[in-house]
Amino acid sequence: MTSILRYLWGLLFRIFPCPTQTGLRRIGTPMRDSPVLVTCNFDLTLRRLRRALRGIDAWLLVADSKGVNVWCASGAHELNARTVVAVIKTSGIGDLVDHRTLVLPQLAGPGVRAQAIEKQTGWTVAWGPVRMTDIPRYLEHGIDAPMRRASWSLFERLDTALGSLFPFLLCGALGFALFGRGLLVDYVVVAALAFVGFFTIIPWVPGRLGLARALVVDLVLGGGLLLTELTLHNPAPRPRADWIIAMVLVLLYGGEVGGIASNLKSDLDPFMARLGMKKIGNVAFAGTIRTDLLNGWRRLVLDPTRCERCGACQAVCPQGVWLTPADSVARLVNEDACTGCTACLRQCHGAAIRAHRVDETAAGGRSAL
Ligand code: SF4
Ligand code: SF4
Repeated sequence: MTSILRYLWGLLFRIFPCPTQTGLRRIGTPMRDSPVLVTCNFDLTLRRLRRALRGIDAWLLVADSKGVNVWCASGAHELNARTVVAVIKTSGIGDLVDHRTLVLPQLAGPGVRAQAIEKQTGWTVAWGPVRMTDIPRYLEHGIDAPMRRASWSLFERLDTALGSLFPFLLCGALGFALFGRGLLVDYVVVAALAFVGFFTIIPWVPGRLGLARALVVDLVLGGGLLLTELTLHNPAPRPRADWIIAMVLVLLYGGEVGGIASNLKSDLDPFMARLGMKKIGNVAFAGTIRTDLLNGWRRLVLDPTRCERCGACQAVCPQGVWLTPADSVARLVNEDACTGCTACLRQCHGAAIRAHRVDETAAGGRSAL
């Protein structure tokens, strides 16, 4: 019963942490040559990972991420080299296997510095795929380009909608239950339709940023509701609280959808940085490399003389920004797609990648400083 409740909490309230026990787990019947995988201690991730690894024999190290998923925890540096080193040392995994290769989830790149793990433990880090469902194929055949690219398929978007919708739906429903019972059912229907519709059609909505796209969705939604009201019910409709709240929620969500999907650029953080807002809680805005990259105040620059051709930048970039051809230094091939996650900067062996400040006052445009 407790397990089902925890599952439902993780599924429907995943914007909140849901920690599970850290340490070593056996998947199948692992042997001394079985792979060693690392993950976070977010309950839902662990459940889904176990399902994805069905039929595989592996050792799984669950590192402390404060009960948050890999992408968010590594972005906030809650999942980091220290927490991974801690689970390596305390789990006794070194006595159970004959090799020293650790597979990290690719989306841990912004937070877990592989070189620090290698230096402190003697283990070698291999970067796994973005999606856990690709792990069996990765273990069988190794990594390929599609496994490294972050995606946001319809299923993933609807899954996100489910996890995000519920707390908002519940708060709004409670409000209507207390203060406007007549609109409760209407609100639930409109808000659910708005969220699911937004996440379903977002790839095809015009606009470069999530907020702009949310505005378009809101206009369509508002227009549709107004039309329905005019034709079916009321020839002179007045603004309705259920519509307004649902539309505001979509807008709020649109503003931060880039912070949720690993393949979209955040709108909220660079906007806050432009306002000069430094921090809310433990989330920093102004002065971070991420927001500077997103605002165009910095750009990625490669010093080819320092490149050690290690391939780490290509291995951790979920956007395919870097190419590391064999026997050649790295190349920036798709800079516009950069979401500023900072994984390449953190993992670069030779400190060859820098985020240089851009002087916008330089004559003739921008120049890297
Ligand atoms: S190029 Fe941009 S998106 Fe890719 S790893 Fe570096 S910071 Fe992240
Ligand atoms: S740029 Fe850095 S991470 Fe990329 S191949 Fe060169 S040394 Fe490695």
